[in-house]
Amino acid sequence: MDYNIKKELNKIRTGFLKVKKEIKDLKKEKKLLEKISNKENLDIDRLKKEIEFLKKVIYNIQTSNEVIIKEEKKEIIGNRVSLKVHYSSCPFAKKISPEHMVLFPTLKEAKKKGYSECICITQKN
Ligand SMILES: [Zn+2]
Repeated sequence: MDYNIKKELNKIRTGFLKVKKEIKDLKKEKKLLEKISNKENLDIDRLKKEIEFLKKVIYNIQTSNEVIIKEEKKEIIGNRVSLKVHYSSCPFAKKISPEHMVLFPTLKEAKKKGYSECICITQKN
């Protein structure tokens, strides 16, 4: 398999596993919450704390998803033929054939090598 595709797949898999774990934690917390609310002496403060915790877990799931999306966009792909650089999310980047593809660690690095930015980069900055 192509190295870039493999790398991207691994990244998506890691992100998925992270979210899966968060959901598992969330379910555990939900069970705990149910147990607490079933007790005769309902401890409102404790319940509130549990709810706060659940909110935090949900927030973490959302932010970890955002991080995954951001990381996807950040990947900088150059085209050896056109000397243009794109974010991996750009439709043009997806059309570059693997033998013309160059991966750059940073945008600066790409510019140093004489590559110019596609509108997918200039529009977002
Ligand atoms: Zn582009």
